[in-house]
Amino acid sequence: MRSTADAVIIGGGCIGVSTLYYLAKLGMNNVVLLEKASLASGSTGDSAAIVRQHYSNEVSVRLVMKSIEILRSFPEEFGTEVFNSIGWIFLVPPSAQSSFVINMRRLQKLGVRTWEISPQEVVLEHISGLVLDDISKVAYEPDSGYADPHSTVLGFANMARHLGAEIRVNTPATGIIMSRNKITGVKTNDGQISTSRVINAAGPWAQEIAKWVGLDLPLEVSREQEMMLRISPNRPSLQRSVSNMVDQTYFRPTRDPSTILVGVGHPKKNELVNPDSYNTHADNTFLEDVSNRISRRIPDFSESEIISSWAGLYTITPDWNMIIDKVQDIKDFYLAVGGSGHSFKLSPAIGQCLAELVVYGEALTVDITSLRAGRFDDNTTLQSTYGGNRG
Ligand SMILES: Cc1cc2nc3c(=O)[nH]c(=O)nc-3n(C[C@H](O)[C@H](O)[C@H](O)COP(=O)(O)OP(=O)(O)OC[C@H]3O[C@@H](n4cnc5c(N)ncnc54)[C@H](O)[C@@H]3O)c2cc1C
Repeated sequence: MRSTADAVIIGGGCIGVSTLYYLAKLGMNNVVLLEKASLASGSTGDSAAIVRQHYSNEVSVRLVMKSIEILRSFPEEFGTEVFNSIGWIFLVPPSAQSSFVINMRRLQKLGVRTWEISPQEVVLEHISGLVLDDISKVAYEPDSGYADPHSTVLGFANMARHLGAEIRVNTPATGIIMSRNKITGVKTNDGQISTSRVINAAGPWAQEIAKWVGLDLPLEVSREQEMMLRISPNRPSLQRSVSNMVDQTYFRPTRDPSTILVGVGHPKKNELVNPDSYNTHADNTFLEDVSNRISRRIPDFSESEIISSWAGLYTITPDWNMIIDKVQDIKDFYLAVGGSGHSFKLSPAIGQCLAELVVYGEALTVDITSLRAGRFDDNTTLQSTYGGNRG
């Protein structure tokens, strides 16, 4: 392990590795990324990784548009295909109709390829067998879909290594060494690294790392369940990623045409947990409830078999958007925390912007000043139309 680095990144999820790659690409390659377990072993590996552009704040829209561009470039830039741009469908109930109309106008103005389609069109062209009750509005995004979070992380990691960066798995950071307000090093279970710069990308453990330097971050960690269904061979395979605000579910196909991934969307109650001791298995009540919701909406799915299920973690900020910032009172300590249940899709662009912030002192690709940490103190939090991780 290098004993001296220009920067140490703590956390090998989608945020940490994309930042590592872009730092190396910008010429800062004497960087060490510490991952306490394996790459993508935190929230990233449990993610549904649905990619959609329907957000109600400009920074997220611009970040996801840039991220889609990066995900699409994976075959040429990283030699691997990670993105399935199969299209995304958003089912909206009557209660959210007016917000939907405002959002669609804003998205189109920002350049997102999205348009409203009729519920009948959804059944004919996108999701056969869908029950249309209570669906008031439908949005379609042809360029969205889903990605493979593991391959995305590995693509960034391999290329960062190729450019000279170092990744240490099974190597937890155990402390940050300070001299007054300056960082001088990072302790690990395998020795120390001298560095003056640290990036906290530790996902659900970000609060623990922040406390080492005396910071208290506004983060909560919530348990989130998902399951995989094998659909009946008599039923046509699912062709689109779907966010269903009517029944509070989301679902998408996988590379295996006979399976779909399903989870529960907002509004719902957060289940706050300790990231070191939570139940990683889904509850039977969840499995039953979600199976019922899915079969009501697409009756053909009632024949499906549950083939796997799990519970992962959201790291939530008060306005459900990440904090990407250089800390004011500690020299060269950066925060890339609070993925809030929807930041896999933003992570390629976030890594690029954060690397620019580190190297140039400001993000050039997308203006990310609205994600600064101080927004919770000066009341400039980001507003969200639908609430929760729907944005
Ligand atoms: C069930 C579920 C569904 C989701 N669905 C979607 C979706 O459809 N679309 C979407 O865009 N987003 C989704 N998300 C959210 C998305 O996955 C997260 O926002 C994103 O993965 C956060 O990435 P991260 O790199 O910040 O955190 P993580 O992936 O958790 O990475 C942090 C890493 O830091 C490591 N670490 C912690 N402490 C230390 C230490 N002391 N030393 C070294 N390493 C350390 C951890 O082991 C971990 O690997 C979902 C999340 C979950 C849980």
